Amino acid sequence: MSINKIGILIVVMMLSLTGSAFTPNSILLNRCLFANNSNPDEKPIKDDGKKKVAKKDDTTRVSVNPSILSIVNNDDDEENVEVDSLLSFPSNDLYASWDTATIHPYSFAQCFKKDSASIVFTEPTDCGFKLPFIGNVTSEFGWRKKRPHYGTDIDLETGDTVGSAFDGMVRIAKLNRSYGNVVIIRHKNGLETVYAHLSKILVEAGQTVEAGQIIGLGGNTGHSFGSHLHFEMRYLGQAIDAEDFVDFEKGILKNNTVLITKADVETKYDLRALHSRQKKDLNLTRVTGSKSKYGKVYKVKNGDTLGRIAQRNHTTIKAICKKNGIKQSKPLRLGQKLKI
Ligand SMILES: [Zn+2]
Repeated sequence: MSINKIGILIVVMMLSLTGSAFTPNSILLNRCLFANNSNPDEKPIKDDGKKKVAKKDDTTRVSVNPSILSIVNNDDDEENVEVDSLLSFPSNDLYASWDTATIHPYSFAQCFKKDSASIVFTEPTDCGFKLPFIGNVTSEFGWRKKRPHYGTDIDLETGDTVGSAFDGMVRIAKLNRSYGNVVIIRHKNGLETVYAHLSKILVEAGQTVEAGQIIGLGGNTGHSFGSHLHFEMRYLGQAIDAEDFVDFEKGILKNNTVLITKADVETKYDLRALHSRQKKDLNLTRVTGSKSKYGKVYKVKNGDTLGRIAQRNHTTIKAICKKNGIKQSKPLRLGQKLKI
C-alpha cells in the first residue's frame, strides 16, 4: 500500500470518528423509510438500490489500532475495497475491527476494559428502534437443555419478514451450522444484533440498513426445531438478555439509556460461568448440608447388619441406634434409611 493511500485512509478514519456531527439532522430523519413509516396506507419511498458494500466476498478483515491501521484481504484484491465504507463501520472506536467472516470474533474479557459502559440505544438522528418481528416469545435467554441459550426466540411462520432492530451495517450474512442462515448487524450504539434460522437472507455484508428495514425471511434453518426467529443482542461479543431492554409484547425499548456493568455480565449474562458456579454450589450444599444438618444417610442393603454398617461408616452400633431411635434387637429392613 502506498504512503499516499495510507494517508487517505487515516484522514477518512478521522472523519468517520467525528461521525454524524456535521451531517444535517433533516437529511438523517428524511432517510428513515422503515421505522417511522407508521401510516400503513403510506407507501414507503423506494430505496435507490445502491448498497454500500465493503467487499464483494466475505473475507475482509480490518483492524484499527490507535496509531496503526491495517487491512487484511484474503485475496489481496484492493480494487474491490471501498475505503470509505470500511473505515466508517459503526462503533469502530469500540471494536477496532470489522470481520465479515467470523461470527463471533470478540472476547468480551479482552475488549471490555472498564467496569461499566453506558449504552444509548437510539439518538434523535437515528431511525429509532423496531422489533425485528412481533410475535410470542417461545424461549428466553438462559440455560436450556445442557447448553446456554443466548437469544430470545420469537415465534413466526417461514417467510415472515424480519427487520433490523436499529440502524447499522451488516457484518455477517451467511449460512452457519447452528444459526442456519444468519445476519449480524453492527450498530453505532455499540451493540450487535443477531438474526438466526432465516429461510432467506436479503442483505449482504457491508450493506448499511436502517431500523425496520427487512433483512431476511424467517425460517427453520440450522439447529432449529420449528420456524422461529432467534434474536440476540451482544455487546463486545457478550450476549445480553434482550428482554432486560426490550418489551417484546409492545415492541418498544424499556429505556433508551442503560448501564452494562461487569457485575451484570458475571451474575446474569455469562451463562457458562453461571452454570458451572451453580453446579459447584449445588454439590457443596449436598455435601456440607447433608453432614451438618441431616447427617449422612445410609440406605440398608441386602446382607447388612448394624455391626457391618457401623464398621463401614466409622461409627458404633450404639450411636446409630441413638440417632435413629431404634433398638439394637430390631431387625433391619431392606432400603431402610439410617442416619449415621
Ligand atoms: Zn433461540
